[in-house]
Amino acid sequence: MSDVTAQAPLANVRVRFAPSPTGWLHVGGARTAYFNWLFARKHGGTFVLRIEDTDVARSTGESERGVIQDLRWLDLVADEGPGVGGDYGPYRQSERLAIYAQHARELTTKHAAYPCFCTDEDLEARRAEALAAGRPPQYDGRCGRLDAAESAARMAAGARASIRFRVQDRAWALHDRVRGDVTFPAGMVGDFVILRSSALPTYNFACVVDDHLMRISHVIRAEEHLANTPRQLMLYDAFGWSAPEFAHVALILNRDRTKMSKRAGEAAVAVGDWRRAGYMSAALLAYLALLGFHTGDDREVLTRDELIAAFTPDRLGSSGSVFDAAKLKWMNEQHLHAASGEQIAAWLAAGPGELPADAAPDADWQAEVARLLAPVAPESGRKLLELVRGNVSTLAELPGELSALVTPPTQMEDEAQAALVAPGAAEMLVLLADALGALAEWSGEGFKSTLQHLGKQQGLKGKSLFMPVRAALTGRTHGPELPLIAEILSREGCITRLRDAAKR
Ligand code: GLU
Repeated sequence: MSDVTAQAPLANVRVRFAPSPTGWLHVGGARTAYFNWLFARKHGGTFVLRIEDTDVARSTGESERGVIQDLRWLDLVADEGPGVGGDYGPYRQSERLAIYAQHARELTTKHAAYPCFCTDEDLEARRAEALAAGRPPQYDGRCGRLDAAESAARMAAGARASIRFRVQDRAWALHDRVRGDVTFPAGMVGDFVILRSSALPTYNFACVVDDHLMRISHVIRAEEHLANTPRQLMLYDAFGWSAPEFAHVALILNRDRTKMSKRAGEAAVAVGDWRRAGYMSAALLAYLALLGFHTGDDREVLTRDELIAAFTPDRLGSSGSVFDAAKLKWMNEQHLHAASGEQIAAWLAAGPGELPADAAPDADWQAEVARLLAPVAPESGRKLLELVRGNVSTLAELPGELSALVTPPTQMEDEAQAALVAPGAAEMLVLLADALGALAEWSGEGFKSTLQHLGKQQGLKGKSLFMPVRAALTGRTHGPELPLIAEILSREGCITRLRDAAKR
């Protein structure tokens, strides 16, 4: 597809992210959500969150809350969804069972589906038999051949039945926005269950009913669902509905090109693990977007707005991408180094501390930064963050850098110690402390001019003037500009440190 077509605005774009709340949000899920969100924003469309919780044994409320919290941290806020509302709810599948029952009845009435009375044991035995005989282990269609009257009688007598879709003997074709033309030959799938005897729908059925009723225009999801798509196409056809457009996104891989998972024990898989490690959501998403999406040029650090402008499913790669933790760290660093103190403060506030206690254990770096910044005014705190951001790759490294600036230097570097014992240094520090005490108004500028004035008076300049002061204030011989440090330390802090150092 040419770029012009790909970039033209589309009307009525409605996309969805449809997690199953059976665990934490995976980085792959976050990426899928982001691609959908970008597509919605690009076309002025709607981003729907649908919770696919019909696997009652594995779904938990805790997981749902965790996924929603993670999405909020990622700033991928749903336009419609649980807790948000919208015209096409409810948005939790467990609250839509009556809708699935009604649609299953519709297909049964059309003879596109039928009640199946086979028990799990029967099915398992026949499956094993088929496999042993070298036949595909598909359902043999026996309940589909039952007389309608007999089925009705068995149902009336209270027999437990699932509802099974009657698969036609034909091939299905799909134009996938990532994979191109895909053909699914006839005979690949046997008649499949759409509604279990427990009245819970299967994934493919609930997905199609919901995507249609929620007016989803584009389905952007993981490649592992490509194999489900023929079943979904059959269902659209049986209902007489048109199918949405599909884009199946290639997987995120471990270095050995297996699907990225916790079991491989490489980089963290859960979004929350990266958050707790001090990564910012903006950096994580910017990295994930480039895993599988090509901007068409060589830009690597893109803002959300730039990604919205560049995004089209046609530029999603069709082969898997290897997750590179070092590259993600680099991306995080790029974001940190370019950020204002205000931005960093906002990232800190959006960290794990805002999450509910049951979401995950809190990260101690956040409390540590708060403790270190507590004595300084917010404005100075932001300056302080700007002073140290160039030395860190993650938010978790901030406490180490901050504490070096604001805690009194108990451990002097050897070179700093040497600067303090230089001839005249101690006297100069005392004079500086006195002069600072006499300053009418405290400021970094005031500190600077006082120091310059004193230097002239004492005939000191360059290293012989600045080194002892720096050593006294920070215990180091390198670091941020002295007036900034002085401001953050406050007048009292500076004077105390200067006098203490002079006594050594
Ligand atoms: N609940 C499915 C999953 O989490 C959604 C698949 C889909 O997007 O259709 O994988």
